[in-house]
Amino acid sequence: GVRAARIRSAELEEQIRTDPRRFRVSTGDRPTGRLHLGHYFGTLHNRVRLQDLGTELFVVIADYQVLTDRDVADDLPGHVEELVLDHLAAGVDPARSTIFTHSAIPALNQLLLPFLSLVSVSELGRNPTVKDEIAHSRQAAVSGLMFTYPAHQAADILFCKANLVPVGQDQLPHLELTRVIARRLNHRYGSGGVPVLPEPEALLSAAPLLLGTDGTKMSKSRGNAIALAASADETARLIRGAKTDSERHISYEPATRPEVSGLVLLTALCLGRDPRQVADDIGGAGAAALKAAATEAVNEYLAPLRARRAMYARDRGHVRQVLREGNERASAIAETTLNEVRAAMKTLY
Ligand code: ATP
Ligand code: MG
Repeated sequence: GVRAARIRSAELEEQIRTDPRRFRVSTGDRPTGRLHLGHYFGTLHNRVRLQDLGTELFVVIADYQVLTDRDVADDLPGHVEELVLDHLAAGVDPARSTIFTHSAIPALNQLLLPFLSLVSVSELGRNPTVKDEIAHSRQAAVSGLMFTYPAHQAADILFCKANLVPVGQDQLPHLELTRVIARRLNHRYGSGGVPVLPEPEALLSAAPLLLGTDGTKMSKSRGNAIALAASADETARLIRGAKTDSERHISYEPATRPEVSGLVLLTALCLGRDPRQVADDIGGAGAAALKAAATEAVNEYLAPLRARRAMYARDRGHVRQVLREGNERASAIAETTLNEVRAAMKTLY
């Protein structure tokens, strides 16, 4: 569960401190719009931090997966470029890290075939995150792609033998499936106790489930998100409209006061402070003061990122070049891994 993953993440942080280079990271997002603060504090911040510590980083832009919960992928190239911009702005350095679109990597996608043979239909159907997403989806029918996307995600992680995946809390069931796939593949096809693929671990941040302006999970598709690329004015307007409760005194009680606590946590993350202290400082000044503090903290924290983003946005040629090079690097690695998997399965002649 989440508690165990939090404890394990603390242990992993210890190992990262002593030897960041023993880890390889793969993680990503769907190109369905600009990244928001939930992405940032849930995973993007950790991606950049790990890169800067010397860990090898792969960022998957999961373009095939846009179609899980919508009929058509409108302006896919535009959304892909927005994702690259968000990463460059946040500090991902394409000279050290690899940003790529998984549709451009045939060998990665081919891993999906053996992977699907290793999981049962009922295991796929039990996934609580997929169930929740199906419940929130506007689609009448559940597509096969929606049902199987966690196995596809296993390919996004294992194609480069990543052993560490910085993710938000909703991804824990998917990561568990990736571990099951690696374990079964190793058990079934490994020889002499040598694993074919690693069993990667989740790394949760201090905000594994950041809430949006309505007090539920901040999410692109729920209309409750504050985009990293939003203007200072847009940010102020969104936070002014955020839901709070009727109690005047501000406190940090995530379990019973999600809306207020979400704003407190966001403020605290931007200020690098303890959320309880932030709440105490505002205290009886009430929700308006909390919103003012949150707006100022977010806008100040994001100002350098937003400035860098605007700079990168002026050079779309560079963005496309980053992707071309990333796709080339990812392809070479995926082909090597696929050949190893096929050799283990005795399908490489
Ligand atoms: P969509 O609504 O299109 O599914 P999303 O906003 O839910 O988009 P994803 O692309 O599903 O975002 O998530 C990408 C990554 O960001 C995952 O690792 C996920 O755990 C993390 N993430 C997304 N939203 C949050 C959040 N509110 N808090 C923490 N982490 C988050
Ligand atoms: Mg999602």
